[in-house]
Amino acid sequence: MFIGHFAVALAAKKAAPKTSLAALIAASQLVDLLWPLFLLLGWEHVRIDPGNTVVTPLDFYDYPITHSLVGALGWSVLFGTLYYYRTKIGRSAVVVALVVFSHWLLDLLTHRPDLPLLGNDSMMFGFGLWNSLAGTIIVEFGLFAAGAYIYLTATKSTNRTGTVALWSLLIFLAVMHVGNLFGPPPPGTEMIAYAGHAMWLFVLWGWWIEKNRTST
Ligand SMILES: [Zn+2]
Repeated sequence: MFIGHFAVALAAKKAAPKTSLAALIAASQLVDLLWPLFLLLGWEHVRIDPGNTVVTPLDFYDYPITHSLVGALGWSVLFGTLYYYRTKIGRSAVVVALVVFSHWLLDLLTHRPDLPLLGNDSMMFGFGLWNSLAGTIIVEFGLFAAGAYIYLTATKSTNRTGTVALWSLLIFLAVMHVGNLFGPPPPGTEMIAYAGHAMWLFVLWGWWIEKNRTST
């Protein structure tokens, strides 16, 4: 899943108004922010395999640290705990931890059975929505629209930048997702690992948005 993860970050703002959208985006994408780093370190692996599912040309054959069920639970507890120690806001810490775990649940819906319980030789999960292009588009954009709507009602801009920053993010993500769905496969796995770090830009973008918006 791609923009569906952002939908959860946007919607979670309503459940935890004191939490910055930057933290919520970081939480929703935490394991995908770590994944390119682990690829570079050689701790996890991916290969390009056009047709692996209808939607993705990637074969996620080795990523138990970031994408196993046990790993996802571990990252959720870790991120929630760190967030609590930094902010002392219990409600936000719980929401942030749940948002981290939501990543695995949304990936469970879209991936073919390549999400392990723990290691690569353990049980594999995945409902395979990515085998249907139409299904993927309906679910991803449906979630995204709902998340954006909830965020728009939970916050208001304090100046023009607050509106521009938010709408530019929403449009950029939607366009990028269409590019992912219909664009060519990436030229190589190193490219995926390097380009993946650009995802941190969205965390910064969330911070910029929140500087210029306030909870309603
Ligand atoms: Zn993922």
